[in-house]
Amino acid sequence: MSLAPPGADISDDHRMMIEAVTEYAEAELLPRDRRWDADESSVAEVLPQLAEMGLLNMTVPEDLNGLGCQYRVYAAILHELSRWSPSVAVTISVHSMVGNNIRKFATDALRQEPLANWGEAGHFGAFCLSEAGAGSDAGATTTRAVRADGGFRVTGEKMWITNGMHARWFLTLARLEGTSSKKNLCAFLIDGNEEGIGRTKIHGKMGIRGSETAVISLDNVFVPENHLVGEVGQGLQVFLASLNEGRIGIAAQATGIAEACLAESISYARQREQFGRPIGKFQAVADMIAQSAAELEAAKLLTWRAACNVDAGAPVPAESAMAKLYASEAANRIAYRAVQVHGGTGYVNECRVEQLYRDARVTTIYEGTSEVQRIVIGRALAAR
Ligand SMILES: Cc1cc2nc3c(=O)[nH]c(=O)nc-3n(C[C@H](O)[C@H](O)[C@H](O)COP(=O)(O)OP(=O)(O)OC[C@H]3O[C@@H](n4cnc5c(N)ncnc54)[C@H](O)[C@@H]3O)c2cc1C
Repeated sequence: MSLAPPGADISDDHRMMIEAVTEYAEAELLPRDRRWDADESSVAEVLPQLAEMGLLNMTVPEDLNGLGCQYRVYAAILHELSRWSPSVAVTISVHSMVGNNIRKFATDALRQEPLANWGEAGHFGAFCLSEAGAGSDAGATTTRAVRADGGFRVTGEKMWITNGMHARWFLTLARLEGTSSKKNLCAFLIDGNEEGIGRTKIHGKMGIRGSETAVISLDNVFVPENHLVGEVGQGLQVFLASLNEGRIGIAAQATGIAEACLAESISYARQREQFGRPIGKFQAVADMIAQSAAELEAAKLLTWRAACNVDAGAPVPAESAMAKLYASEAANRIAYRAVQVHGGTGYVNECRVEQLYRDARVTTIYEGTSEVQRIVIGRALAAR
């Protein structure tokens, strides 16, 4: 059931933590997740709880008040959370990706200020890469920055921003005007308390409806000099490096959704009777379950391997893209079969697989579509 394969190298403390998260998520998050889906309210109500449990600073080093978890432990926890609330899983995944980015690329000042407080509910992160006209082609960013006294002023509009309604820290890609080089993309850490920031919630999402998605407008927003993350001209690389690891979080979200779908399918196939026997006794139904189980195992192993590569300091672009590509596509197939196993029951919202089917859909889209993952894999392999 766990993302970690049997005999995996995880400490006893971390195993206990993973189990505790599972118990918490089933008891506390599942009922809320069903409500968030129904009324489009937000995971924001559980941020203080998540912070208290240490789930908002799992990958922050211990010397910066974080838990300093291995990446594989973090991925295993996202998998467990996603079994019960895919919305909470992606919330934490995006927030953690921004924290990891600051840890790697930001100035010492930034490491001390936002990062040392990263686990507190008030220090919540969002990843502002996409725009209406710059999705897969993130380099087409039109958000612009100009130099100002003591820093920069940023103006533009970011689209589809997860955590956008409550985030304090917006990692934002913008084009620095006035530089002679064509390579003028920069990553800025924008403080949401500055003037000039507008947040508009996007309603009517197909799935993960508890996860906040927003349009963020930036009108001449001040950014201090030391909130430039990485060098001028390296902005896109800073974002793409984050995504290489972040995609493992989405892969873990997908395996969690798939695990929940499989569990629901097995349970239903045991109890539902037709033609005088449980439907699981029919070969066609058993085939669906067997195929889903095999694909889930493959997805989990790819995800686990990619997370272990991060821990080993090995390059991850191809491995994380493979994990994200396979796990997200498999989760969609597994969710489709789960609805099929449930028949008409699976088509109605009262049945959880109806929601999981919708929740799974976005995993092949965000943090790079499946088509983009294939491009990343192809390029990485060609460069080896
Ligand atoms: C719920 C949700 C949350 C999100 N959260 C965030 C977030 O927190 N931060 C953020 O920055 N973004 C976020 N996104 C945006 C997401 O990353 C983009 O939607 C995604 O990258 C695709 O961009 P697009 O929607 O503009 O599609 P497009 O890029 O327009 O793609 C449309 C289609 O064309 C295909 N395509 C495009 N280019 C190529 C190519 N070169 N080769 C082959 N096929 C191609 C795509 O694969 C896709 O099938 C989120 C999106 C959603 C739906």
